[in-house]
Amino acid sequence: MDVRAPKGTADMLPDTARAWEHLTRTAQELFARYGYEPVYTPLFEHTEVFARGIGEATDIVSKEMYTFADRAGRSLTLRPEGTASVVRAALEHTLVPQGSLAKLYYAGPMFRYERPQKGRMRQFWQIGLEALGAAEPGVDAEVIAALWRFFETVGIPADNMRLLLNSMGDDVCRPGYRATVAAYIGEHAEALCAECNRRLDTNPLRAFDCKNPACAQVMAGAPLLRDELCEPCATHYAEVKARLDALGIPYVEEPKLVRGLDYYTRTVFEVQADAGLGSQNAIGGGGRYDGLMEMFGGKPTPGLGFALGFERTLLAMEAAGATVPSPPRADVYVARVDESVAAVVFDVASALRDAGIAAELDHQARSLKAQFKQADRLGARAVVVVGPDEAAAGEATLRDMSTKEERRVALATVVDALRALLG
Ligand SMILES: [Zn+2]
Ligand SMILES: [Zn+2]
Repeated sequence: MDVRAPKGTADMLPDTARAWEHLTRTAQELFARYGYEPVYTPLFEHTEVFARGIGEATDIVSKEMYTFADRAGRSLTLRPEGTASVVRAALEHTLVPQGSLAKLYYAGPMFRYERPQKGRMRQFWQIGLEALGAAEPGVDAEVIAALWRFFETVGIPADNMRLLLNSMGDDVCRPGYRATVAAYIGEHAEALCAECNRRLDTNPLRAFDCKNPACAQVMAGAPLLRDELCEPCATHYAEVKARLDALGIPYVEEPKLVRGLDYYTRTVFEVQADAGLGSQNAIGGGGRYDGLMEMFGGKPTPGLGFALGFERTLLAMEAAGATVPSPPRADVYVARVDESVAAVVFDVASALRDAGIAAELDHQARSLKAQFKQADRLGARAVVVVGPDEAAAGEATLRDMSTKEERRVALATVVDALRALLG
């Protein structure tokens, strides 16, 4: 049997898993302050949830989804992102009845069949947040602020990050702009790659995202939506910027930022950071998707959200020298002189754990010397030694590992003595 994990997947070993837990805990605490509640949707959905929600013409849907038939022949897909699932759940459970607001966040794995590289995995982990029901520009600024503050909270300084901001317009102004861009692409067809030409009819704005240098050069001269926004979109965009200014969150207007997904309207944003990958990389981003609920058959409901990638955030944290808190694995080690006192030692360790103290003990009949070594490795600040003499007297020896002081204490008072020692 091949014991290697499938290509593009990685085991989260304790150091990485601790980082993931640190980030999810940070998200829970921070997003709760902004009024967001947790939501967990299934890891797979009916394929049409993503095909319709994300858009048939996107790379995700056309090339990258893990789609399979279940035993009943239904087409299911491992979720490639979180928004479509959350919107589907909001509709199923009527989380956004007329006039209300649902504020939700999630964390978990996503799946895309891509060429694996550093910071890009086939099973990757995201934390995301969605605000459903609010059209006001203040909620755009709130969502962007939650993302920005999250990165700051985990130790990525503002100086290491760049917030890109754009407006993609709406049903009123975007169709005309799409036609303008399609015409522009048509005029420069021979200079553009086959992919950009192919998407001329389905998704011409994706040409702004094309990595082909020739395409980038042509698109640098393309007309900008910024200059064709309708009045309500222009006002909305101006107010989002005013709120961000008031929050002191710096942004760079990037009129070519279109994000890969079909469902965005008006505000789109991306946070880039030095992730040690040689250039600035997107570590999180999102946007407004006022038409998505309706696309799923619901009533028109405004909404927006973001997702941030765990792997890239971790690289950006490393590049910034940010650390993940790593508590000692044991405050106290309970050592035994021989096996005759194994039950006493087990009871002492259990009492410490019940009292909220991290305690470890020997399960492998190691020598006392080996147990002390283990206590050091685990970072224990105290060792409780129990031998047959101590046990017979109803006592234990307590050793302070920093001062090396030892004293006998009654077994009944071990928990209190250690509480005092650990402060
Ligand atoms: Zn191209
Ligand atoms: Zn508009």
